[in-house]
Amino acid sequence: MDTVVILGAGQAGGWAAMTLRDEGFAGRVVLIGEEEFPPYERPPLSKDLLLGIRSSEATYLWPRSKLEELKIECLFGCYGNAILRDRKIVVLSDGESISYDKLMLTTGARVRKLVAPGADLDGIHYLRNLKDAAAVKESLVDGSQLLVVGGGWLGLEVAAAARCRGAKVRIVESTNQLCARVLPKHFADYLQSRHESNGVTISLNSTALRFNGTQRVESVALSNGEITHVDSVVIAIGVIPNLEVAKEAGIEVADGIIVDDQGKTSDINIYAAGDIACQRDPQGKFTRLESWANAQNQAICAARSLLGGTSRYQDVPYFWSDQYDFKVQILGSFASYDDVVQRGTDAGEQTSFFLKDNRIVAVLGVNRPQEVAVARRLLQRNLVVEPSQLMAAKTLNELLKSAVPAP
Ligand SMILES: Cc1cc2nc3c(=O)[nH]c(=O)nc-3n(C[C@H](O)[C@H](O)[C@H](O)COP(=O)(O)OP(=O)(O)OC[C@H]3O[C@@H](n4cnc5c(N)ncnc54)[C@H](O)[C@@H]3O)c2cc1C
Repeated sequence: MDTVVILGAGQAGGWAAMTLRDEGFAGRVVLIGEEEFPPYERPPLSKDLLLGIRSSEATYLWPRSKLEELKIECLFGCYGNAILRDRKIVVLSDGESISYDKLMLTTGARVRKLVAPGADLDGIHYLRNLKDAAAVKESLVDGSQLLVVGGGWLGLEVAAAARCRGAKVRIVESTNQLCARVLPKHFADYLQSRHESNGVTISLNSTALRFNGTQRVESVALSNGEITHVDSVVIAIGVIPNLEVAKEAGIEVADGIIVDDQGKTSDINIYAAGDIACQRDPQGKFTRLESWANAQNQAICAARSLLGGTSRYQDVPYFWSDQYDFKVQILGSFASYDDVVQRGTDAGEQTSFFLKDNRIVAVLGVNRPQEVAVARRLLQRNLVVEPSQLMAAKTLNELLKSAVPAP
């Protein structure tokens, strides 16, 4: 094999390239990215960057010099328009084309746009990349009024950062709870109370219908009949996977590119990983994860597999969010559970365990990173744990030693 082409230079693409070199692949590695930056981490964009405690460059996975040193050919500011699978070629936006022996698709996701009158006025932002983060940061002026449309993780992180910068913040969320897609109601309510006690106004069951202003947004008409004054708006209503190129090439897709647990797509020469990839979960359902850990670890596994490795990607899903002075960490899935056990009496510092048939299926920690780290091992090993054992154990390490794997 001479050439591996990686299309999409984000968290997954960057780690795929690095893994190929780490594993000793000496052939050509071409990393193609639409953005002009080297691969960078997005989580700080809604946290440290908005707070002004981290620079853009500090988000880069590696300095450009490291990529050069490893002879990773970087085509940044370059879009892959098409994949000609019969000829194993990627056609680029500048008309050039690149041949591959193996291709890795790591095209990630883009923001979902809100369709509403006035939604293109100045002062209305989305947040997916470094340029967006710089614009949002500039708008977070002390005393200014920010409206966040969407009460998911991103909207909440933006709201928290904005409050820390002294902005007045209102969140509108179209459903009846925050993070409705992923969180149990009782925890969504807890998050809501944390935001409200930090001065955020939250309107559930409401959304933005119309943005008013001549050139710049001045007010927003909400679905609950109110017209609210704003200085700026951040719209955070989810993402859409960048599927088009794969789909047009005839690769099998669902909500994302369908991959097996080694990152292989329906074309034996093409792999995929990260936000774009859709893999069966342990219940057999195709699932596309949008998380930093998944992008990195699935890409590492897929790159090894592309080189002939046999490891399988079966990590427990992991996500975290930093807001104000607390860190939320989530392991597993809340899709189906029959019991909840809470460890820790302080609401600002506790871990909830979600069990199904005495097996932990999900964990939700607030400011308990050490306990979550051990919980990850309990979950990964699929141990049988009685709720009473979970409550009584002084440390989770005790359980790691004593619990037995589920049959
Ligand atoms: C603001 C923000 C905060 C986040 N915070 C957290 C967090 O706290 N915890 C957590 O777990 N996750 C978080 N995430 C999610 C996490 O960052 C993503 O899951 C991760 O970045 C996905 O990486 P990826 O490489 O799969 O895709 P992406 O990061 O989307 O990268 C894909 C890249 O491919 C490029 N591309 C697409 N199509 C083409 C093409 N045809 N040709 C060339 N280039 C192309 C795109 O422009 C993009 O640069 C956050 C995301 C954002 C945006």
